[in-house]
Amino acid sequence: MPAVQPPCKVLVSGANGYIAIWVVRTLLEKGYSVRGTVRSEDKAVHLRQLFSSYGDKHEVIVVEDITKEGAFDEAVKGVDAIEHTASPFHMNADDPNELIIPAVNGTVGILKSAVKYGQSVKRVVVTSSAAAILRDSPTPSVFSELDWNEQCLESVKEKGREAPNVMKYRASKTLAEKAAWEFWNTHKASIGWDLTVLNPSYVFGPAINAATAPSGLGTSANMFYNYVAHPNSNGATNEFLASVGTAWIDVRDLAEAHVISLEKEAAGGERIIVSAGLWKWQDFIDAANTISPPPKLATGGLPKGNPGAGTGHPSTVHLLNYDTAKAARILGVKYRTIAETTKDTLADYEARGW
Ligand code: NDP
Repeated sequence: MPAVQPPCKVLVSGANGYIAIWVVRTLLEKGYSVRGTVRSEDKAVHLRQLFSSYGDKHEVIVVEDITKEGAFDEAVKGVDAIEHTASPFHMNADDPNELIIPAVNGTVGILKSAVKYGQSVKRVVVTSSAAAILRDSPTPSVFSELDWNEQCLESVKEKGREAPNVMKYRASKTLAEKAAWEFWNTHKASIGWDLTVLNPSYVFGPAINAATAPSGLGTSANMFYNYVAHPNSNGATNEFLASVGTAWIDVRDLAEAHVISLEKEAAGGERIIVSAGLWKWQDFIDAANTISPPPKLATGGLPKGNPGAGTGHPSTVHLLNYDTAKAARILGVKYRTIAETTKDTLADYEARGW
């Protein structure tokens, strides 16, 4: 359906988030205009400052509660495309609905607003997750866009609050993505936009959001700091560092994928896994220890773990991986390597004095 191309105007929800702020930056760098949404005025300050050189090509508006009916009605007016990234990503929910309601209602809400008031909208990109695809299994599996994570839905249905926190998060992403497709399939004959869903694996890489401490970076970026930048990896055992890890993508490559997803006609109506490859914490730790000169971190040094015990070691098992052929075919995303991402991320910590 598109071509969406610069200088089109793009709405980015949750613009202050770890991923979204890179999406905003990439859009602006490519010549798009951007309207970001945040939950409160104080969260707009850093965005306005960071992107001040773009003048009126960058605006930030407040959408206080994305779960309210009509929350995005004003935000969608006059935009050519939408990148919906706002959704809770944490592992602290007690009631699964703490995650599910904003994930589902926020997603359906922005699509409803696009139907009502988004006459100029040509494409909507929703940031889902590999969490909506994968399934825990004791044997190695390769997942594709044909897979749906029903396991987390069963877990949350059976156990409710007692379900593992990761299952609650995965359920929020699965239900939100299912709701997005159901909504679009119901309305597609009568609307002027199509839907693309991106399913990224774990996202790492340097942050440009307003974090004053690593805990404010966002869940995945904070995990990276905890395990890769602390001399004792916050108490994680060598076995943990060598065995824990799945698949990943650099936040800047994911931002690029968000922009390309607006521009490629063939991305319309597709869910697309974006993932650079496999990781174990030990892989990032090994990469960190080859940086020359070594980064000067406030933590005093880097962890060592058990060098070489990660991916590639004969005893290392990866229980899941993704078929990324569709992303290669449609988006042509180029992925940074573990070495590049690690170097840039540690340089970011050093620059922040962490
Ligand atoms: P962040 O926590 O950094 O950003 C999340 C954004 O969503 C923030 O703007 C946040 O606003 C907003 N948000 C969270 N909860 C709510 C809510 N209840 N109501 C309104 N807005 C809310 O996370 P990421 O940037 O890492 O994640 C962005 C998206 O990418 C999410 O949809 C996540 O599921 C998905 N994703 C992330 C991956 C990762 O490894 N980081 C992997 C795969 C998918 P506020 O700052 O005000 O809380």
